[in-house]
Amino acid sequence: MDNLALQCRCGQIKGRAIKVNPADGTRVICYCKDCQAFAHALKAGAEVLDEQGGTDIYQLPPARLQIQQGLEQIRCLRLSEKGLYRWYAGCCNTPIGNSLAPRVPMIGLIHSFIVDPEREAKLGPVRACVNLRGATGQIPKSQLDAAPARGYVGKLMLKILVWKLSGQGRPNPLFSTKGQPLASPHILSPGEKL
Ligand SMILES: [Zn+2]
Ligand SMILES: [Zn+2]
Repeated sequence: MDNLALQCRCGQIKGRAIKVNPADGTRVICYCKDCQAFAHALKAGAEVLDEQGGTDIYQLPPARLQIQQGLEQIRCLRLSEKGLYRWYAGCCNTPIGNSLAPRVPMIGLIHSFIVDPEREAKLGPVRACVNLRGATGQIPKSQLDAAPARGYVGKLMLKILVWKLSGQGRPNPLFSTKGQPLASPHILSPGEKL
């Protein structure tokens, strides 16, 4: 198992993911419209989204995310009152990742925050392409065959349960122990959505 280097574009926020194992199979590409809206809100669509509007995300439990520098630069955005907590770098608008809710022990790290030169080897292949209805183009069949959406939700629920039971929900660098987000979320108004 390895550490994975994390950094925002300008370098003010630095961190790492620990105990990264390519056999874990927690890397997905999400094609949902909300992930696209988040990237566009940060004017990072070209950097983050693939040709079909997908976002490459590495899922891990909060205890395996360590922010070593620049924690105070992290900002939170939500696309609606009940939307995911979507994290980004206030210093340079780099998309960082998302959390479903304070008590759900899972963080989805967006590839734009993963700067490790050995990223591909450390993370292993994409295991699932999900929320395909939001795709903006035809996803290559070879990609869908290699990383099918089928079975994804069940596997993810199981992982979250294992992470919870093994105490990996804490510490969570993005929420206080009372469940308060690190930065108060800015709820995107309809006019701010592209
Ligand atoms: Zn930055
Ligand atoms: Zn998504």
